[in-house]
Amino acid sequence: MSIYDVIVIGAGFSGLTAARDLREAGRRVLVLEARDRIGGSTWYQADAFDGFGLEMGGTWIVPQQAHVFAEARRYGVRITGDTPPGRLTWSAHGTVRDTLLPVGPDEYGALEHAVRALVAASERLDPDRPLSEQDLADLDVPIGRWADEAGLTGDARELMVSWFCGCANARDDVGSALDIIRWMAAMDHSLWGMVRASVLGCTFTDGTVSLADAIAADARRPPGGAELRLSSPVRAVHDDGTAVTVTIEGGARVRARRVLVTVPIGVLGDIRFTPELPPDKLAASRENHAGQGQKIWALARNVPADLSGFGWGTDFDYVGAMGTTDRGEVLVCFAPEHDRVDADDLADVQRAVRDFAPDAEVVDAHTHRWVDDEYSKGTWATFRAGQFGRYELALGRPEGRVHFAGSHTARRWRAFIDGAIESGGRAAAELLAADAGGRTGGKDPAERTVRP
Ligand SMILES: Cc1cc2nc3c(=O)[nH]c(=O)nc-3n(C[C@H](O)[C@H](O)[C@H](O)COP(=O)(O)OP(=O)(O)OC[C@H]3O[C@@H](n4cnc5c(N)ncnc54)[C@H](O)[C@@H]3O)c2cc1C
Repeated sequence: MSIYDVIVIGAGFSGLTAARDLREAGRRVLVLEARDRIGGSTWYQADAFDGFGLEMGGTWIVPQQAHVFAEARRYGVRITGDTPPGRLTWSAHGTVRDTLLPVGPDEYGALEHAVRALVAASERLDPDRPLSEQDLADLDVPIGRWADEAGLTGDARELMVSWFCGCANARDDVGSALDIIRWMAAMDHSLWGMVRASVLGCTFTDGTVSLADAIAADARRPPGGAELRLSSPVRAVHDDGTAVTVTIEGGARVRARRVLVTVPIGVLGDIRFTPELPPDKLAASRENHAGQGQKIWALARNVPADLSGFGWGTDFDYVGAMGTTDRGEVLVCFAPEHDRVDADDLADVQRAVRDFAPDAEVVDAHTHRWVDDEYSKGTWATFRAGQFGRYELALGRPEGRVHFAGSHTARRWRAFIDGAIESGGRAAAELLAADAGGRTGGKDPAERTVRP
């Protein structure tokens, strides 16, 4: 059996970036991807709504995300700038308010308090350092509990909680408030910056696939290009202390000196590792992350072309118009639970959209059920309350000759495309350093954690 320098498991942005960097450093790389496409949690469907392309997964980026913008510049990938909406729509339990502020004048004080509480919490964080090392356990609590402890009240509380749930794609008793406050810290503690980072950022003009394709082509460029095998789900990883044997579905086996695993948190436990993964990684996978909601695209008539609506007490927490086709407005809709709205039932989608646009007539809908997808088991990897302390560092820690990447292991923009790219670059450097240690006879950082 021939031996690769590195086998990368997963061809999302983290795996592709790592493969490209390792190839550039002269390593012989094999990428194994379970699906029949690259891109992982991003998936651009070019002709979904009569030729209007839809991003089923990761979509928006902001200029503060240095890694993804650097990659786009490197390959000349086109980015469409963000145009802030001219107005926002607020839906309180289905009652639409087209007002300057989301709450009535009697609650302006409560709203100001909520904003101050958010800014104050954000300013405690350094988003470039592990949050679990910054004495922030009081923020690593369920979103709803943070709102109560910060003294938020009335509509101001409901708005803030629903917005956080939208960012977390999770319920308010599940998602970690800290993981969302982190977004604001990463946007230099700016409230407007956080709004942009949540749903109003830039997009890839030709779809996320344009960047994924560019990185993959570079990784595979001859001579010495990485091999990419699609439709190759990995079922087992065996580290014998000298090399690693990877078993693909159907029984084929390949071998490498090191392996990089980039599969999502919830999927990790489905691969049989020997030696077994340590208890923290296994527990993290069993618990899975908080991002277990929905992203549904709808095509609707009788909807304002500039709709950008945040709601509380509504099934969708955000509904926004993203473009126009001959059949209507293209709406992107988010819900914090995977079964809130039935995307196969246009009447159900219409009912939920009407909380934001009461005359809406939904004529089409499209989604991908990431939560039910065996290679994702969730949407974006926001943490559950308490998971920072337990798993933030554990998830990216190498185990023997097996290394780990993925947006869930990133620092500043974990759970974003940018974080996936950051983590791929970090892991490639880590693998090269471990390799250099082994080759020069120096202490190999990975060897230190080899378990019997
Ligand atoms: C609905 C949705 C909306 C999002 N919105 C945004 C957004 O607007 N902006 C943003 O920046 N981010 C967003 N994200 C998050 C972003 O898409 C991800 O953080 C990022 O793409 C993750 O990249 P990754 O490489 O870490 O993981 P993934 O892209 O998940 O890649 C992991 C790969 O591993 C493969 N795999 C799994 N199991 C196996 C196996 N056993 N063997 C081989 N391969 C396997 C998978 O098929 C996948 O290709 C969104 C995600 C979703 C789902």
